[in-house]
Amino acid sequence: MTIAFDHSWVRDLPGTFLRVVPDRAPAPRLLALNHPLAAELGLTLTEAEAARWFSGAELPPGADPIAQAYAGHQFGGFSPQLGDGRAHLLGEILAPDGRRFDLQLKGSGPTPFSRGGDGKAAVGPMLREYLISEFMAAMGVPTTRALAVVATGEQIWRETKLPGAVLARVAASHLRVGTFQFFAARGDGQTVKALADHAIARHYPDLAAADQPYLALLDAVIAAQARLVAAWMGLGFIHGVMNTDNMAISGETIDYGPCAFMEAYAPGTVFSSIDHQGRYAYANQPLILGWNLARLAETLLPLFDPSSDRAVELANDRLAGIAPRFRAEWLAVMRRKLGLPGEDAGDGELADDLMAAMEGADWTLTFRRLGDEAALRPLFHDFTRMQAWLPRWRARAGEGAAERLAGANPAVIPRNHKVEEALAAATEGDMAPFHALLAAVRQPFAGAEPYMLPAPAGLGPYVTFCGT
Ligand code: AMP
Ligand code: MG
Ligand code: MG
Repeated sequence: MTIAFDHSWVRDLPGTFLRVVPDRAPAPRLLALNHPLAAELGLTLTEAEAARWFSGAELPPGADPIAQAYAGHQFGGFSPQLGDGRAHLLGEILAPDGRRFDLQLKGSGPTPFSRGGDGKAAVGPMLREYLISEFMAAMGVPTTRALAVVATGEQIWRETKLPGAVLARVAASHLRVGTFQFFAARGDGQTVKALADHAIARHYPDLAAADQPYLALLDAVIAAQARLVAAWMGLGFIHGVMNTDNMAISGETIDYGPCAFMEAYAPGTVFSSIDHQGRYAYANQPLILGWNLARLAETLLPLFDPSSDRAVELANDRLAGIAPRFRAEWLAVMRRKLGLPGEDAGDGELADDLMAAMEGADWTLTFRRLGDEAALRPLFHDFTRMQAWLPRWRARAGEGAAERLAGANPAVIPRNHKVEEALAAATEGDMAPFHALLAAVRQPFAGAEPYMLPAPAGLGPYVTFCGT
């Protein structure tokens, strides 16, 4: 087939990218191809085409590969130049339903933004991104998607030699808070405005007619990101590297580096080996959401009401609304997870009190088993507080709670030990555990037994790594 690429980024945003071709993979071997996603995009790829085109062995006709520039606050410190150090945007695809998507290769070789990195990726982390983003999609959480993972036939050096791979990633766009920061930091207001116009046209087209379209853009990103982080919190998802370059203007989850799902609930949970201060701990994510959105607002300030000096006031007003907005989104998530019909003034307190009562218990299974006290008890070391909370919940949830719980709370999440098992096998050449786990996380409400249970005791704390 041929892919009918479009290149609106290249057309609209000169000076924001460099043309770079991917490395040529010596011996591409397709490890996973996302058929449902290909169908959504209107692509009827053969496996041979996928292996060649999504590894960098051959450029698909019509591709115009670029590396995008961006900056970002990493763990709070500003890096004025990051950019695609191991990714090549091949172009955009218009799906049959009219939606526009980026098709990007990741792990496809160095670019001028590599800053000393090798531009490569290993099989394990690319399959990890595939698995976790498919679970997010199955749960209805906005996310970039994985179209394919292809082993390159190259060995790459990390702590040991590992098989290399390329991920073909599909995203509503790769426009990040950090993209705005790159140009704002250089005083290039014209490009900041062009990026904002691109964001509006592509992600929030209704705003073009707003009185103040750039303030409306900030509002829209605040709304999308507040909803996204609330959805993460509901799943016990810890992104792990919420740097501003990893926050998408589209409101999709992006960059599945050191992310992982919490098992035993503890607000301070951190998995990433480099997050020593716990900046991106589970319960800190809503605060970081606000911090990152403040950085976006700073880049847009010159576009707010340029005829008056009220820009800062207008921005502060928006930023003050983030915490209550997040709380409302979180409460909506918790009402669903608790199987509560309608809304009641006491719901926030009921949810907060559950958080206090369930510390140490498995996040996923606690919600799943709320309606079955006998199954719930073994999840707790000390059931006292839960015992006091349950009658309040029962009184509020009422009839039909069991069905609502089962429809809102996944039985299966990508459990860390299962993910590691699948990736270790894949690294050794056995893809069967990966495909079995993928099938399970794509049907998260079905509950395939071995994938439902927490990690066996004695595995020790789970640690994740980025950039591997
Ligand atoms: P991340 O922590 O994944 O958000 O990446 C931060 C920056 O490091 C981005 O500019 C990436 O493109 C870059 N990067 C990550 N891994 C590599 C690599 N292996 N080679 C070159 N650049 C990389
Ligand atoms: Mg990143
Ligand atoms: Mg990354």
